Amino acid sequence: ASKRAGRGRATYYDTQLNPADDRGWQLERELAQAIAGEQLVLHFQPKVRLEDCRIEGFEALVRWQHPAFGLIYPGEFIALAEKNGLIAELGDWVIRACCQQAAAWRQQGLDTVPIAVNVSALQLRDTAFPTRMATYLQQYGVRASDLELEITESCLVEPVDLAVRVLNQLEGMGMRIGLDDFGTGFSSLSQIRHLPIDTIKLDRSFVDDIRSSPEAGVLVTSIITLAHNLKMRVVAEGVELRDQLVYLKTAGCDAAQGYILSRPVPAQETQRLLRQGILEPA
Ligand code: C2E
Ligand code: MG
Ligand code: MG
Ligand code: MG
Repeated sequence: ASKRAGRGRATYYDTQLNPADDRGWQLERELAQAIAGEQLVLHFQPKVRLEDCRIEGFEALVRWQHPAFGLIYPGEFIALAEKNGLIAELGDWVIRACCQQAAAWRQQGLDTVPIAVNVSALQLRDTAFPTRMATYLQQYGVRASDLELEITESCLVEPVDLAVRVLNQLEGMGMRIGLDDFGTGFSSLSQIRHLPIDTIKLDRSFVDDIRSSPEAGVLVTSIITLAHNLKMRVVAEGVELRDQLVYLKTAGCDAAQGYILSRPVPAQETQRLLRQGILEPA
């Protein structure tokens, strides 16, 4: 009887006092169905080369078009997917959707650019991941170089050798690999220099502080110089202001992403952007 009462109280708490928790429960219950039922959509944010403002790639960012809640952002469901084991399915859906997009551009006669896929630490721990990747590429008739992977430092925690083996296989297939949110974790360039990483993505928090804090500016410049000496490219994330863009360009940053250039856009808008080829700051 006491168990029942306890459960009753918990339900009361969830639904009455914490509607956000209730929404979390509902999303967790519905996620599998959402993946299978094509409720996920990708938006694409351009990466712009600072030298000539050319669009050099897109990043795929997943959203959930929920029948009741509207468009839901990944901050609200990626962690759920990682917790309940659905991240592999979600991740595979994203990869197939990116392959489909790359194939569609080619069919439309557009010059394609690589699409970057965010992968979670759990996906990189799956030794079958490279094989599945190869299968998808073949199914959709796209090259490994049409996709790019964005991993985070959380992929590089112990046991690191497993992730490194998977990464080396993917790199061996011809995929480029970027390290996302660089600077927010504890890894240093000297630690990652032996990994197959082509690009570091400078976290938005550095970009935010570039003009307000001289130390942040110096730090950004030093990271860019060091990365270049280690033969890595640097992409700045979350650029919102013209000042930031100017600073980054002067500091030798290779490319940038951010609202000042473009927000993430639905698939149909990528065609116009690719035809245009160039993206100037707003
Ligand atoms: P991320 O990979 O670091 O992606 C950048 C995030 O910053 C995106 O948020 C993007 O919309 C946002 N952003 C871009 N430019 C600006 C800007 O100028 N200012 C500000 N304030 N924000 C900007 P989003 O789409 O909500 O994604 C959040 C995170 O969710 C991503 O961070 C990534 O870690 C994760 N994620 C997104 N899609 C996937 C996916 O398909 N699989 C996995 N595993 N994770 C994903
Ligand atoms: Mg990313
Ligand atoms: Mg990032
Ligand atoms: Mg970030």
